[in-house]
Amino acid sequence: MDYFVALFLIVIIVRTIWEIVIDLINLRYSTGTNAKIPNILEDKISTEDFEKSKKYLKDTTYFGIVGSLVSLTVDIVFVLKLFPVLEHALSGKWSLPIQALLFFGIYTLIDYLVGLPFSIYSTFVIEEKYGFNTTKPRLFFRDQILNVLLTVLLGIPVLLVLMWLLSYPIWWWQVSLFAIALVVFISFVQPVFIAPLFYKFSKLENEELERKLRALLEKAKVKVPNIYKIDASKRTKKQNAYLTGIGKSRRLVLFDTILTYSDDEILAIVGHELGHHVRRHIPKLILTNSVYITLILYLTNLVYDFIKANNVFGVSQPYTVFSYALMFITSIIFFAEPITNYFSRKMEYEADEYSAKLIGSPQPLISSLKRLVKENLSNPNPAPIYKTWHYTHPSPEERIKRLMELQN
Ligand SMILES: [Zn+2]
Repeated sequence: MDYFVALFLIVIIVRTIWEIVIDLINLRYSTGTNAKIPNILEDKISTEDFEKSKKYLKDTTYFGIVGSLVSLTVDIVFVLKLFPVLEHALSGKWSLPIQALLFFGIYTLIDYLVGLPFSIYSTFVIEEKYGFNTTKPRLFFRDQILNVLLTVLLGIPVLLVLMWLLSYPIWWWQVSLFAIALVVFISFVQPVFIAPLFYKFSKLENEELERKLRALLEKAKVKVPNIYKIDASKRTKKQNAYLTGIGKSRRLVLFDTILTYSDDEILAIVGHELGHHVRRHIPKLILTNSVYITLILYLTNLVYDFIKANNVFGVSQPYTVFSYALMFITSIIFFAEPITNYFSRKMEYEADEYSAKLIGSPQPLISSLKRLVKENLSNPNPAPIYKTWHYTHPSPEERIKRLMELQN
């Protein structure tokens, strides 16, 4: 079955090459001599800001390309060598669940250790250089340790259930149901139990803002028992806000970094988040993700059976065969990313429109978008192919244009 091994390698290599090609197209488009500040942003983005954002894009793009090449190399080493070597070293010595835990444990650990220097470089060199980073090394390592602990704590039971399900002759729908339940479970647990491990949640000190936010929630007829600010400024200067949870645990969360915005701008941003809620974007996302997960696992099951029946790669244990099959299918399904991003961008327009109507004017949202571009050094001129492929949000220029149309 050598041709399948060749096909496997071609798929993961083509995927990486494709990613690098669109990265470079985007870099050339956004930083070339023809690139200029979009008219709409000219009043807020100075030539200096623009030059800085181009440099930031250059640094992050080259850094991303190095990362993609390293991760491709690691994948090839795993596919050709480490997966079979690990299986042979483990099988026969322990019971199947223990083998699987050791296999995925070693796999995840190597992957993590390879990624760690990148994460350190990104935080302490690139983000630092542009003045975004506020994380101290101590906090960074505390976050790392916490992430490892959470992965182990959650990973062990998940792997044990997975191994049990893989013992069925056909398992794609059982594993899909389990994966969907897991996604829903995490989305409940994350805001209430996990996020507070990383951030301190506290009441807004600005009573005036709190009163205005409550009035806005009332107007939108959305019940949000809790409004919090979090100490995001301990890690970054970048700004954000989100609405999460359901029922009594529903919460509106503002990064403390966004509190320098005017009240009207904050209200417009919150209006956007409320738009996602009112237009039922979260249940829609959960539904489409469920279909996506099921499709991936159905195809993974087909490839799993193929690898097993033809003894490709010389492996036979369920955990190894599953790892191969899943890596192959996720690399192929990557080429469907523009479809999901298209729907995501549509939802962002809907949320913007909702905010403008709720507030009664698109102006505060427009001015907050301009500030976000300026202060987060967002690329004002992304290449069209790059937007189609990667952008979950329309570009700020497109969003502002659409908002201005609403006003007329
Ligand atoms: Zn949004």
